[in-house]
Amino acid sequence: MFSGQLPQFLDPRKYADQGRVVEGQLTVADLPRLQEYRESLDQPVEISLAFDRDEEGHRRIKGEVSTTLVLQCQRCLEPVNYPVRAIINVALVWSEDQATALPERLDPWLVGEEPMVLTDLLEEELLLAMPLVALHDPCPTALPQESGEPEKQENADNPFAVLAKLKGQGK
Ligand SMILES: [Zn+2]
Repeated sequence: MFSGQLPQFLDPRKYADQGRVVEGQLTVADLPRLQEYRESLDQPVEISLAFDRDEEGHRRIKGEVSTTLVLQCQRCLEPVNYPVRAIINVALVWSEDQATALPERLDPWLVGEEPMVLTDLLEEELLLAMPLVALHDPCPTALPQESGEPEKQENADNPFAVLAKLKGQGK
């Protein structure tokens, strides 16, 4: 549900030239690429963006998008609420050539002549800000002791070991 002054589509060139601010709230269900987080669909997504042009005329979008995703803890497999906050700082470009010509300090966000879909940017930035592995700190329930596999306990605190183990299972 698009609420307040959040536009679903917008003309980023005009927004930047006018120095517009876009603020409002969505839910995770509004972001197509986050649909797999089924436990999180009702979670609010806070959006605060400012469009502008810098001294050199680069059109930019700065701001942040944040939500709380309900992920599965990779240690105890129970749900864990994980705050995800992405700082957005991109320069709008209309071609690959423009992207290449940007100063290194600016991250390009490629838009076309079609209206920009606001959620494309939001979900991309949230996905980039996602944790590689979600873990409670600490887990709310004690893990069952598994006899005969002592090395499993030693590795439990290392997210990379957990990930490697998951990959090893061919998931
Ligand atoms: Zn846990």
